[in-house]
Amino acid sequence: MRKSVTVLGSTGSVGINTLKVIASYAERFEVKGLAAGSQTGILREQIDAFRPSDVYVLDDKSAAELSTAYGKKLKVWTGQNGLTQFSSAVGSDILVAATSGTTALGSVIETLEKGRKVALANKEILVVAGALVMSVLRAHPEAQLIPVDSEHSAIFQCLQGQKKESVQKLILTSSGGPLREVPPSEFFGISKERVINHPKWKMGPKISVDSATLMNKGLEIIEAAWLFDLPVDRIKVLIHPEAVIHSMVEFVDASVLAQLGVTDMRLPIQYALTYPERWQAEEGMRVDFAGLGKLTFALPDRKKFPCLDIAYEAAKCSGTAPCVLSAADEVAVHAYLEDKISFLDIPRIIEKVMSRHSPLKNVDLRKIQEIHQWAVEEANRLCLAH
Ligand code: MG
Repeated sequence: MRKSVTVLGSTGSVGINTLKVIASYAERFEVKGLAAGSQTGILREQIDAFRPSDVYVLDDKSAAELSTAYGKKLKVWTGQNGLTQFSSAVGSDILVAATSGTTALGSVIETLEKGRKVALANKEILVVAGALVMSVLRAHPEAQLIPVDSEHSAIFQCLQGQKKESVQKLILTSSGGPLREVPPSEFFGISKERVINHPKWKMGPKISVDSATLMNKGLEIIEAAWLFDLPVDRIKVLIHPEAVIHSMVEFVDASVLAQLGVTDMRLPIQYALTYPERWQAEEGMRVDFAGLGKLTFALPDRKKFPCLDIAYEAAKCSGTAPCVLSAADEVAVHAYLEDKISFLDIPRIIEKVMSRHSPLKNVDLRKIQEIHQWAVEEANRLCLAH
């Protein structure tokens, strides 16, 4: 029996790679639902290739165009709040959450409540609503939340068969991003092209900027704290420019397990889809150790990349602090991409928004969304004032 899959964010970088994995296992997976922001050439190609029964597009004009083009062959969903209804109605075995931001939060919670599998590529969801999502997961023993983020997939793999009490600390590796060797004196007025040009991973613009500021790693610390139920002071960051070791777990007996692989998102995506099984990889996906020659490591430069400490601080404050961090970062990064603020303004704006928020604990989804919206508006105001 083929497993049915719904991909949220199908035209983004992880979405496209997810469909590549599915295409190479066409006899084992079927695509039932695809969701994207608007209808594009890529989405049309995906619809033609995978023939889903349902599609969601946020933009209603796109929805009308798709309905006209496909008629009765395709059920088209749209609307600001339509994504959760769409994924719920499609009801696939596996939901791949590969949107950016928190748009897929409702769908993730609803899928876990049904006791199904979520392959989570979207780190903002745990950063913003980690307590809520993990409590839903605990309440539904059948449900699975499998990380797709390469670092978390690595740690998840290293922890298979291990007891939680055996874990000393988690070591999240970071390539150091595109600015690792750029002197901070050049940060002022640095071009988007240099910032987005990641040396190891090909990703969307938001996550590429986050990699340049190291906020991506900061968000990953918070994501890891929720997924693996550890305090953030036991989650460390290690710069590893070759990006071959995707992350490591140190155990109480000082033994360290690492997961290694080529820098290709199809690897963690495939593991999330096939877990707990491992399926044959395609040609060209194997690590050439002799070709690599050596692996190097360093500590992150925390002065040069203040976003890392801002994220640790938010994680320690806990409650709604990470939600505000994530919302402010999203706004600041988009403002930078639209040339409204400079690269150096990104951490300043995030810190300012955070300083104006008193974190709350044990909040429900509605309150989280309210605080998220407040942080978005506050960050927008600060970006405009620049
Ligand atoms: Mg990552």
